[in-house]
Amino acid sequence: MELIVQKYGGTSVKDAERVMNVARRITDVYKSGKNIVVAVSAQGDTTDDLIEKAKEINPNASKREMDMLLATGEQISIALLAMAIEKLGYPVISLTGWQAGFHTDRKHSNARIKTIDTERIQAELDRRRIVIVAGFQGINRYDDITTLGRGGSDTSAVALAAALHADVCEIYTDVDGVYTADPRIVKDAYKLDDISYDEMLELASLGANVLHNRSVEMAKKYNVKLCVRSSLNNNEGTYVKEVKQVEKMLVRGVARDNDVARIALCGVEDTPGKAFTVFSLLAKSGISVDLIIQSIGNNGKKDISFTVTEEDLPMTLKLLEENKDVINANEVKSTTDVSKVSIVGAGMVNNAGVAAKMFEALYDAHININMIATSEIKISVLVDRKDAERAVVAIHDKFLK
Ligand code: ADP
Ligand code: ASP
Ligand code: MG
Repeated sequence: MELIVQKYGGTSVKDAERVMNVARRITDVYKSGKNIVVAVSAQGDTTDDLIEKAKEINPNASKREMDMLLATGEQISIALLAMAIEKLGYPVISLTGWQAGFHTDRKHSNARIKTIDTERIQAELDRRRIVIVAGFQGINRYDDITTLGRGGSDTSAVALAAALHADVCEIYTDVDGVYTADPRIVKDAYKLDDISYDEMLELASLGANVLHNRSVEMAKKYNVKLCVRSSLNNNEGTYVKEVKQVEKMLVRGVARDNDVARIALCGVEDTPGKAFTVFSLLAKSGISVDLIIQSIGNNGKKDISFTVTEEDLPMTLKLLEENKDVINANEVKSTTDVSKVSIVGAGMVNNAGVAAKMFEALYDAHININMIATSEIKISVLVDRKDAERAVVAIHDKFLK
């Protein structure tokens, strides 16, 4: 029997009316004779509200207790959605992450799924029940609740599709699919009919939060047919798949990431091993460094600048302070008033003009570039945060209008 996995995001279930809408969509699939498993997110801004609630009591709460709290958001959604389906008269059961067999590693707040024990879900499907699973959560080997990182319900859905060998995994959200840029920022952005796993993975990792990046990674690994669609209409969505033929389009999309902090180590001794000292220190503490630039030495001194996520900034500054005698910089500066803006496209390999064209767009818009990084499939620049949205629009106009 055909099996469909669907995922509904927070805006798709934000109130009673939307929950009923989703219930009808699900029962339509069931009525057509297919089996269906659904992963759901917390309603609307519930996760953000829960984080605020925690902060009122303890801004430094342990990640274990944060996971315990945040997982409740999805538990509300699954129960309400199951009740809505009951009301429509169909057999249904809701399952939390652990009931659905999601086993993760130990990393609270950003856990990875290790296995899904599908026995329970399979038994429910065999009884021809609709199965509603709480997204974003699992359980670790100490039986503690874990969460998969913000936006992680997408990954729950893809993992279910892979484990259950579903025919398709449909991600329902508040936009019609994957666009050439965030349609909230760029009015002229348009929907892509399809996009390769690699391009989507880059876009998602570079800030296009329409899909959780790990969900794309997993879809590629297990060859899950993935589709992004709107829960509010029946328009064709975007298919994320293995696109064999590289299209003529050089650039497929523009993304922006505000979760960036820049650190500058000014006046570091220009001797071998300095970069090694700094970055091995951070690596040992699990801090990933993204963009890096090092100036040419001048009078025996050089500057090293790099970016980390905002979350990692306090820890990074603490480590640099603790090791200041070894690093021996004249000054350490940091700011979070920056954003990373990137273009992605498998067609840009071997195309020398792309970077120049991107920089020209920024120059025309009088936007200063702080840092640059390139790879075969993307180019990223760091700009002041106040310029980021204008930068996205200018770059989009240049390549995709
Ligand atoms: P959900 O709650 O359904 O998971 P999200 O808010 O996580 O929804 O993701 C959908 C949002 O992603 C859209 O409303 C849109 O503003 C944003 N977005 C960012 N980049 C893109 C893009 N390239 N294409 C489509 N949407 C994008
Ligand atoms: N509710 C979680 C979040 O807001 C997970 C998700 O929506 O995918 O991040
Ligand atoms: Mg999301």
